Amino acid sequence: MNIQPRNFLLAAVCAAWLGSAFAAPDARIATLAAKEKPALLETLKELVSIESGSRDLEGLEKISDLIAAKFKAMGGEVELIDPSADAYRMEDTPEKIGRVVRATFKGTGKKKIMLIAHMDTVYTVGMLNKQPFRVEGDKAYGLGIADDKQGVAVITHTVAMLQALKFKDYGTLTVLINGDEEISSPGSRTLITRLGGEHDAVLSFEGSSVKEDKLSLATAGIASVTLNVTGKASHAGSAPEQGVNALYELSHQILQMRDLSDPATGLKMNWTISKSGSNRNVIPASAAAGADVRVLKVSDYDRIEQQVQERVKKQLIPEAKVEMKFERRRPPLEATDASRALAKHAQQIYKDELGKPLGADDAVAGGGTDAAFAALKTKAPVVERFGLQGFGAHSADAEYVLVDSIEPRLYLATRMVMDLSRNKLPGN
Ligand SMILES: [Zn+2]
Repeated sequence: MNIQPRNFLLAAVCAAWLGSAFAAPDARIATLAAKEKPALLETLKELVSIESGSRDLEGLEKISDLIAAKFKAMGGEVELIDPSADAYRMEDTPEKIGRVVRATFKGTGKKKIMLIAHMDTVYTVGMLNKQPFRVEGDKAYGLGIADDKQGVAVITHTVAMLQALKFKDYGTLTVLINGDEEISSPGSRTLITRLGGEHDAVLSFEGSSVKEDKLSLATAGIASVTLNVTGKASHAGSAPEQGVNALYELSHQILQMRDLSDPATGLKMNWTISKSGSNRNVIPASAAAGADVRVLKVSDYDRIEQQVQERVKKQLIPEAKVEMKFERRRPPLEATDASRALAKHAQQIYKDELGKPLGADDAVAGGGTDAAFAALKTKAPVVERFGLQGFGAHSADAEYVLVDSIEPRLYLATRMVMDLSRNKLPGN
């Protein structure tokens, strides 16, 4: 890059002129971000106009083709990966899972940086009619626009900006867009974890909040416990002693596993669903229950699974058959020194170059994300919420993103890739 001297001068002049404490933005990047803003809105319109629920294979095929074409047009080496065969199969995992778009850009440097987002939504076919794309004032509305189509759009236009800047100081810039995030990433999780381990930094583009412009360093880990008890049916009136009451055994199991939450570590386990029996006058031959588990630390996953494995062995009715399934829906993302340093650098860019505050939340709030899979087997920094400020994910409210957050977030993502490539982060 050969624009530094001019920008430096410009920055100095601007700072002096404004009399402010912060240096001005890199003018060329700021100009590009402004130029990309309408293009990004156009991309958002395209993405939102294709319905892509996690189980809508047709929609996912369409949207993955569109995204693949965009990165191909920018010179990326693009693969469409079908992750169905090696999926981690959970109760609700569909037979076939949407494809993952992986785009690779080769640079002249050494650093390997990955940008991730997801293209699937929680919505079902037909809901788009009620929430078509539209811009009203500072809000761009659309189904799935905040979670997480804005993430796909921000990554797309960040890559476009890097291209326009002819920036190639990274070694590898990987873009990974999956289509199964909202069903706990059964297909893409292995790939995300493997690639996370092969990169020097991962920026994840779930949306930031409307209330506070911020990054996230920690997200919740989610698991589920399913119990299936098989007994033996018998007439409840004439021969109850010949039956094996599955409901009694299930009730015993639930009660003996009602105290596994641990407030000290933030571990929560709560039984939330159950069903049993078919008729009032029949000893129930089957009973099932499910519990919701939340963890803040990966190690708590192992601990709670072990505890459940132990407890479940203590049966009330030895003749009943008890099957337990512990599903790791999504690991937690834990804040690390590396992720704190990366977030701090982002905060500095925001403050020094844009004069804006940026939060970096290391308290777990809300749902889990794919950033946690990326962080599972690496010490490299993984930071969440590089996306636009938005509202209404998974709700019945109209989902929107703040149009005014487009320029600063494009600026930030571009600057982060540049500084990560050039080893400008502390601790690197
Ligand atoms: Zn999401």
